[in-house]
Amino acid sequence: MDALAAAMLVTALASSTAMPTVDCGLVRTRDIGVDFGTAEAAVRTLATARLDDSRRHDREWVGGVLRTADGRYRITEGVGCAGQDTVTFSVPVTPRTELVAFWHTHGDAGQARHLFSPDDGRVVSDTGKYFYLMTPDGTLKVLRPAHARVRATHYFGALVAAPESDVATPDIHA
Ligand SMILES: [Zn+2]
Repeated sequence: MDALAAAMLVTALASSTAMPTVDCGLVRTRDIGVDFGTAEAAVRTLATARLDDSRRHDREWVGGVLRTADGRYRITEGVGCAGQDTVTFSVPVTPRTELVAFWHTHGDAGQARHLFSPDDGRVVSDTGKYFYLMTPDGTLKVLRPAHARVRATHYFGALVAAPESDVATPDIHA
């Protein structure tokens, strides 16, 4: 990816519930500095580590998944403000990394929080990249371009199966 991807902005909408609009500006996500074997492992590991905080503080964690030149995966993260429904974020991309997917959480449990929002669908259809969601109950799902071809109020996406064997979980620091 080139400099254009580095400036790519993504908007993720948590839900369509009528809440006061909070806009905290652009969330600049950062690489957590851990290599993973697959994009799904990267997302599952980091989203699981952030799920309790996401629920407790009703904040959305967001980020991108990067593939490195040697075929490994890195992940970036940032966090929106409490009560913020729409989070706009950027993902840093270097000449040696390619942006391959996005991920996010939806804060605390609530109406439609287990579903992808229309804005989530727009991200996927605009970028052609997978968008992962860890729902408030800890289910990992993915929205793919084929899912988002049709405009909808919400999208279920597809479940991402848990790995058959648990591998050692890298230590993720805040
Ligand atoms: Zn969303």
